[in-house]
Amino acid sequence: MNTKEKDQKYIMHTYGRYDVALKSGKGAVAYDENGKKYIDVSSGIGVNSLGYCNDGWVAAISKQAGTIQHMSNYFYCEQASNLAEKLCTLADMAKVCFGNSGAEANECAIKIARKYSFDKYGKDRNRIITLNNSFHGRTVTTLSATGQEVFHNYFFPFTQGFDYVDANDIQQLKNAVTDKTCAVLFEVIQGEGGVNILDKDYVQQLVKFCNEKDVLVIVDEVQTGIGRTGKLFAYENLGIKPDLVTMAKGLGGGLPIGVCMCGDNLKDVMSPSTHGTTFGANPVVCAGANYVLDTVANADFLEEVNKKGKYLETKLRKIDGVKNVRRMGLMVGIELENDDAHQIAAKCVENGLLIITAKDLLRMLPPLVINYDELDEAVNIIEKTLKENR
Ligand SMILES: *Cc1c(COP(=O)(O)O)cnc(C)c1O
Repeated sequence: MNTKEKDQKYIMHTYGRYDVALKSGKGAVAYDENGKKYIDVSSGIGVNSLGYCNDGWVAAISKQAGTIQHMSNYFYCEQASNLAEKLCTLADMAKVCFGNSGAEANECAIKIARKYSFDKYGKDRNRIITLNNSFHGRTVTTLSATGQEVFHNYFFPFTQGFDYVDANDIQQLKNAVTDKTCAVLFEVIQGEGGVNILDKDYVQQLVKFCNEKDVLVIVDEVQTGIGRTGKLFAYENLGIKPDLVTMAKGLGGGLPIGVCMCGDNLKDVMSPSTHGTTFGANPVVCAGANYVLDTVANADFLEEVNKKGKYLETKLRKIDGVKNVRRMGLMVGIELENDDAHQIAAKCVENGLLIITAKDLLRMLPPLVINYDELDEAVNIIEKTLKENR
């Protein structure tokens, strides 16, 4: 049996896959098992932020794997301590909690918000408001947090205590906040929901309102964080300061990590045995994340992300069949005039471009290190594919 046949026989069918088995990669270029070359503007859904097999990143994780590969959280870990210091300093936050995925980071934020409220107000003030069309993960609780009916199926009973409001409607939010509300959780740009960028004014009003009511503001930066939008965190584009920030995807550069970070008011909410995970703060993973942060948290690097984003948007807007482009940094959603995004994405893959979709849009999350020639090539393949589909 080949890779595809074994996959279909032995791996649960929880994902629809493109008809490609990726074998290797370097930078923004990947190769499949037959040696065919692809430009990758998906980066494993925003995970390979420095592209495939970045030399410095490979050296950092290899060195760490050969030094000490894991220890339990009952011991201090240099790489984790360094990463925590770096994140808190860069974001002007107080403390972090380590996990292994975006969903876990959000679970942690939800637990902290509820415990903060429990400690201060008692057990009935536990409800969390999220936005319609959001995405926060696949655990039973983060499915509940996800404001899309399609995710609230099969796995009953779901975690209680979530209320949903429409994005960019401040009055609806104000009406939804009651004396039972402990937090509001949102993405600055709804990634899975279709690259919907929240209004700056809305978010600022939301934060102000929540601060007045001691309702915690949790920003899910799992997809938007770590340079993706041209700032280290997307919320920086909006001039707000959240109480809790979650991150995952791009932080590890290709290894699994999830982090929940909090401000000074929350730093002592969690106490021993209120939260934890065996693999959290793994030294190899943290070594990779330290390398990613050292590279990305740099004004010149972030400026380049913005420049590439603008360059890409300008080119995409000129393509026949492209109706609109929604973008911040190198997080890009492409609205098509007539074509079906899923069909076009599959054809782009056949034509040598790894691209994904979000709702009915094409979505690009290229590695932040992609170069201008590769962006040109990606645009050409999209243009060619749309033309062939006519
Ligand atoms: C991907 C994603 C998650 C879930 O992260 P996992 O690592 O898949 O658990 C949560 N929130 C947002 C905004 C995401 O894009």
